[in-house]
Amino acid sequence: MKSENVDVVVIGAGPAGSVAASHLANNGFKIKVIEKQVFPRFVIGESLLPHCMDQLKETGLLDAVKEIGFQKKTGASFYREDASCEFSFEEQFTSGWSWTWQVQRATFDQTLAEATAAKGVDVNFGCSVTDVNCDNEIKTVTYETPDGEKHLVKCRFVIDASGYGRVLPRLFDLDKPPTSEPRGAVFCHLNDANRTVHAGENIFVHAFEDNKAWLWAIPFSDKTTSVGVVGEDTLIKDLADNDGEKFIELYQNFAGLKGRFAGIDPNFTPKNIMGYSVGVKKMYGNGYVLCGNSTEFLDPVFSSGVTLATSSGFKAATLAIQELNGVTVDWENDYEKWMQYGINVFRSYVKAWYTGELQTIFFAKNIDPSFKKQICSVLAGYVWDKSNPFVKKHTKLLTTLAKVIKLNEAANV
Ligand code: FAD
Repeated sequence: MKSENVDVVVIGAGPAGSVAASHLANNGFKIKVIEKQVFPRFVIGESLLPHCMDQLKETGLLDAVKEIGFQKKTGASFYREDASCEFSFEEQFTSGWSWTWQVQRATFDQTLAEATAAKGVDVNFGCSVTDVNCDNEIKTVTYETPDGEKHLVKCRFVIDASGYGRVLPRLFDLDKPPTSEPRGAVFCHLNDANRTVHAGENIFVHAFEDNKAWLWAIPFSDKTTSVGVVGEDTLIKDLADNDGEKFIELYQNFAGLKGRFAGIDPNFTPKNIMGYSVGVKKMYGNGYVLCGNSTEFLDPVFSSGVTLATSSGFKAATLAIQELNGVTVDWENDYEKWMQYGINVFRSYVKAWYTGELQTIFFAKNIDPSFKKQICSVLAGYVWDKSNPFVKKHTKLLTTLAKVIKLNEAANV
């Protein structure tokens, strides 16, 4: 078996892996990225949040993405049958980015991986990690090349950014059942010639089925749009059956879209994904850390996945740099609890979306503009800004505000 030595192995070249590898390479470490698929490859998760721009800028990856000309995203629009609510990232509590992009992930992830390789990182596509051993001071990672050859890499640290592949959670028995309801999604891309019929260039999220399901439309700069439905398993299985026959019928006739997709067929057979919510017992261990979707994934409704991936990839690499430089790292407080904090803020919002509390707030006739700005910063991904009351008191404030709005509406205030 061929063998080589590097400082750090990063498993996976999605946003989490590229950000982590770039940050380490910027600090002079020898990095090997091992990626199972050959890029460009399709992956869902196309609407970014402004906070991910911070990590792309810090790692020097932003300029490469800027050159592509992805669709600019300046906010998010939420709808239900009788109401709508617009958030503009210009109107935020936290000072940060006021815009981001909607991206075809095949191009976005390939751009990040190429920009990472340009920093001298050895990025290996089509190579699948099959075994990892972190018991000793020197860690070992075994992978298989496309022609079935086995290779061994010796390193000082391993970063698992393998997303839905969940390499270390599977190998080290770290998987934990999710806390949320089992949901799924069915989606496709289509030509969006009637884009001006309804809604602008930002993400469009429309609740239906009494808050149990929602439809997204994410416009891209080439005038195609990603369309999908998220809902309980039974609904999604039904929509996805027979090459997505009922899903196509649903989006073509969806009243909230006002005919925008009438008669438009998908650009490919709709894809579906079930049971994507996952949890993890522990996010770090002796000489390894998990980041991005390899940790925990809740729900796509607030487009938090890529931002959690870039934030955790950056944080994991920052701490790994310290450890490799001989500094003792408090992984429990500085990584696991930090990550859980951000995830838990989103968890409260996801929960409140499906109970309808958040929709009571979003679609209220009157909402205090300062509250709206604070909520907008959460939706922009600034979930670690504890000076924001809607971050700090995320468990209570949404419930309390929804109750007050309902009481006021009942009293006709
Ligand atoms: P990934 O992007 O999944 O990358 C992991 C990489 O690891 C993959 O390329 C994979 O090939 C590789 N890998 C796996 N196994 C191995 C192995 N054994 N060896 C080597 N490499 C391996 N997020 C958003 O931000 N916005 C959205 O609008 C959004 N919408 C979503 C809609 C749905 C229906 C779902 C389910 C998710 C959505 N997400 C969204 C979440 C988003 O898909 C993920 O959070 C994001 O892709 C995570 O990035 P990552 O870098 O952690 O993993």
